[in-house]
Amino acid sequence: MPAIPTHPPSRKSRLRGAIYGLLVGDALGVPYEFSSAAELPKPGLIEMAPPAHFQRAHPGVPPGTWSDDGAQALHLLKVLLGGHVAIETQLAEGLQSWMASAELTPDGRVFDVGIQTQEALSRLARGVPPHQSGPYEERNNGNGSLMRVLPAALLPAADDGVFIERARRQSLPTHGHARSLLACSLATLISAGLLEGFTFVQALDQAQDRLEEMTVEMEKEELRVLLDGRLDAPNGSGYVVDCLWSAVAAVLRTRTFEDCVRCAICFGNDTDTTACVAGGWAGLLYGEESIPLRWREQLRGKHLVEPLLERLIACWD
Ligand SMILES: [Mg+2]
Repeated sequence: MPAIPTHPPSRKSRLRGAIYGLLVGDALGVPYEFSSAAELPKPGLIEMAPPAHFQRAHPGVPPGTWSDDGAQALHLLKVLLGGHVAIETQLAEGLQSWMASAELTPDGRVFDVGIQTQEALSRLARGVPPHQSGPYEERNNGNGSLMRVLPAALLPAADDGVFIERARRQSLPTHGHARSLLACSLATLISAGLLEGFTFVQALDQAQDRLEEMTVEMEKEELRVLLDGRLDAPNGSGYVVDCLWSAVAAVLRTRTFEDCVRCAICFGNDTDTTACVAGGWAGLLYGEESIPLRWREQLRGKHLVEPLLERLIACWD
């Protein structure tokens, strides 16, 4: 088990840990996707390459490859680094070019795209504007915008309103329902607190308080639905509320990056996405060095990540 560091990680280590934590969590979870908790190997056997007897998902994808979660998060990071205000417009363009040319994927191959995101991209292709292209019925609350939101917290912001604005705008092109917008906002406020050096419990409590203060009256009921999700057993599903609280549970129940992402995967179901959300937080909390070296080495496509990380860290100089 990696040693628990005795001194807090630097901001640079937290920023790099966030992005690599998200990508490692995603890649680690890919082979285990769609399995129930009971069907999965024991936590200690969860590795980039599953045990030989395990029937892995996405058998054509080499171990260490991030999926749609990682690719979309990198696209959002690229948009934010460009300083664009109309995040939804730029991200919609980025997602369309990702589908067409597989930009920011390790193999030039797009896989694992969710049904709701596919529907949104076809609406964009038909000319629906990016602020309306995300399906917005109550049933349209998949975790596809939560899984990519982490970069919204990683660039400096004047106040919490900026974090919330980024989180909501980046969700709109694919996930327009208030519950998804609020889930992305809560996740971003948690991440921003972690980057400032708060413990996870402090960051979570502060984020909930701030979001309750800042939520407009017409979204209060949706906020209640989101926050009440904490009372349900984590199930690792593709529902945005369950995904958020499953990732929270994985961080709260563990003390290291390694245990956290394995715990997230062991909830079963949408394993890559639960582990991507939890892994981003664990990377922020514990720093880059806490991510086991073998997983950092096994992660493919790092040459695509490093230039973006250099620009991200330069934003804080
Ligand atoms: Mg995925």
